[in-house]
Amino acid sequence: MAERPDDAHPDDAHPEGDAARGAARDAGRSAEPGFAAANGWDREYETFSDFELPTYVGPTTFMNLPWVTDVTDLHARAVDVAIVGAPFDDAVSHRPGARFGPRAIREAQYTSGSINSLQLGVEPFEILQVVDAGDANIVPAWIERAHALIYRKVHEVANTGAIPIVLGGDHSITWPSATAIAEVRRPGSIGIVHFDAHADTANDDWGVLSGHGTPMRRLIESGAVDGRNFVQVGLRGYWPPVDVFEWMQEHGLRYHFMTEIEERGADAVIDDAIAEALDGPDAIYLSVDIDVVDPGLAPGTGTPEPGGMLTRELLRAIRRIVSAVELAGMDIVEVSPPYDHAETTSMIANRAALEAISALAVKKAAGRAVRFVPGT
Ligand code: MN
Ligand code: MN
Repeated sequence: MAERPDDAHPDDAHPEGDAARGAARDAGRSAEPGFAAANGWDREYETFSDFELPTYVGPTTFMNLPWVTDVTDLHARAVDVAIVGAPFDDAVSHRPGARFGPRAIREAQYTSGSINSLQLGVEPFEILQVVDAGDANIVPAWIERAHALIYRKVHEVANTGAIPIVLGGDHSITWPSATAIAEVRRPGSIGIVHFDAHADTANDDWGVLSGHGTPMRRLIESGAVDGRNFVQVGLRGYWPPVDVFEWMQEHGLRYHFMTEIEERGADAVIDDAIAEALDGPDAIYLSVDIDVVDPGLAPGTGTPEPGGMLTRELLRAIRRIVSAVELAGMDIVEVSPPYDHAETTSMIANRAALEAISALAVKKAAGRAVRFVPGT
């Protein structure tokens, strides 16, 4: 805190009720009334940068980090991790609202400034260059345009060498987002570790090829990601139907049902998921549908499915996966703030991003590469 100009607090000099008398005395001393001095508002106060302030003060960026949308700026700063918003939910099958996800996730946290991960023993923002690169240029009610502009935004950010962490938005955004990462990483390949109650491998949602039940099939059919480089964790409930599972088996997807986590424990299943993720691709895109977490903990989502993971299991899994694989990009999707209670879902999503960032910071502190500049 800043030193006070005097030992005495200005209020001490003008006990309650004396403000008017003080103002009159000051007015008598100078031509101007001097209300600031009279009220004690002329003392020195320390001021803080936006980053150091609570996130409800100042700009609405992720963790109050700098808002850097200009690609030249991202290059110049050698950004390690860039948050990207994909505020789009026109492809949902049931409850909407995920368009409000990016803003809610950015704000749903109650620390400020440079933080210290107790889990990983690292101060991530002291090690990594992390910025908020802003949102894709979305307008409502136009799926094709939204997907094109999400693709372009993620592509231009990843092209600077930064690892994008994309805040959805419904899960359809993974199709353009992971496609952009796959393209930037060429001729290398990416795999996807996908946390979700749902496989999202339908051919179509009521005839719509770009719905939020279809992105994983589009990624595989287009050749952006090989089917056998998909690892899904947390599937449960009553979807997809048998024919979709047959398609998944034909295309070599690896998947772990929630029942497997119940029987073997999350750590053993994540051990297998990491081994499978490392079996083939050069780098991993991590896609986290927040509905993988039980709706008792994460109610603010479009298609909740009871019986999911615990928050602590998901956050631990993210730390372990990002520590073990080369992370090419990440998204956190299906957070629907209008269905949330007390921000619980948004806070989990915020921490999902932060756990990945912290795990990347540990790598950078150990001298390992985090950025990926295409063509180098
Ligand atoms: Mn999903
Ligand atoms: Mn889902």
